[in-house]
Amino acid sequence: MQLIDKTALITGAAGGIGRAIAERYAREGARVAVADLDLTAAEATVQQIGDAGGEAMALAMDVTDEAAVEAGVAAMVERWGGLDIAIANAGIQHIAPLHALSFTDWRKVMSVHLDGAFLLTSAALRQMYRQERGGCLLYMGSVHSKLASPLKAPYVAAKHALLGLCRSVAKEGAAHRVRANVICPGFVRTPLVDRQIPEQAEALGISEEAVIRDVMLKDTVDGEFTTLEDIAEVALHLAAFPSAALTGQSVVASHGWYMQ
Ligand code: NAD
Repeated sequence: MQLIDKTALITGAAGGIGRAIAERYAREGARVAVADLDLTAAEATVQQIGDAGGEAMALAMDVTDEAAVEAGVAAMVERWGGLDIAIANAGIQHIAPLHALSFTDWRKVMSVHLDGAFLLTSAALRQMYRQERGGCLLYMGSVHSKLASPLKAPYVAAKHALLGLCRSVAKEGAAHRVRANVICPGFVRTPLVDRQIPEQAEALGISEEAVIRDVMLKDTVDGEFTTLEDIAEVALHLAAFPSAALTGQSVVASHGWYMQ
């Protein structure tokens, strides 16, 4: 087990990629705070982790609400005495061409990804700087941290910006033994992706099968989706990595869709 005696807080961990990482971390011995807008779903994830022999706690948290993020970090530190790994994972998507995108929708997507990442970073760093052992920040970027697709401007802009935030944390955090890295998945079948298949089909005037084959997976080397297990594995590797040789980096896991 690679994360024994570690504590982790993962936002957006009630479902999708965040839940897969939470379950994997718990199997590796970490105590995991499952933070999400959806408390009922977060509690179900915690129950599942507990049933499998792991330890977790649920936190009701809107990542765009500073008080909620502060309170969530404080609650897990109070219960477990520290915070070793913080993952800014919560995210949403909005499909629209730029000329028809409202300022409200722009701000909503930017806020969940970027304000959410900042607020978690801020709260986590203040705790990690107090700890002799430092800590590890992970950001859920995307292949869209590296390239753009049509109809996703605020998402693409926010995911690119996470690279800058991560590099800033890597520079400032090094003196406090804090590392920061970005995970950049290709398409993974989660509710976030399943929702956008019909939306993109409608916006592009093509079938859902064509969206998957000719848009989402067109540039992969093998036409395959990236899996939840793939991303959990990368998140484990980055969290367990023993030195600051790996900091300020972005790891792309996308079946070759994007090669850096
Ligand atoms: P998902 O929709 O399955 O899960 C997202 C979770 O975030 C949900 O549990 C939701 O309740 C929660 N959430 C949404 N807004 C929140 C908020 N304001 N505060 C707290 N929690 C909130 O999505 P997913 O596919 O698992 O995506 C997770 C992350 O991975 C996102 O940052 C997403 O951009 C990124 N990502 C996903 C893919 C993919 O193909 N699925 C690819 C690249 C990157």
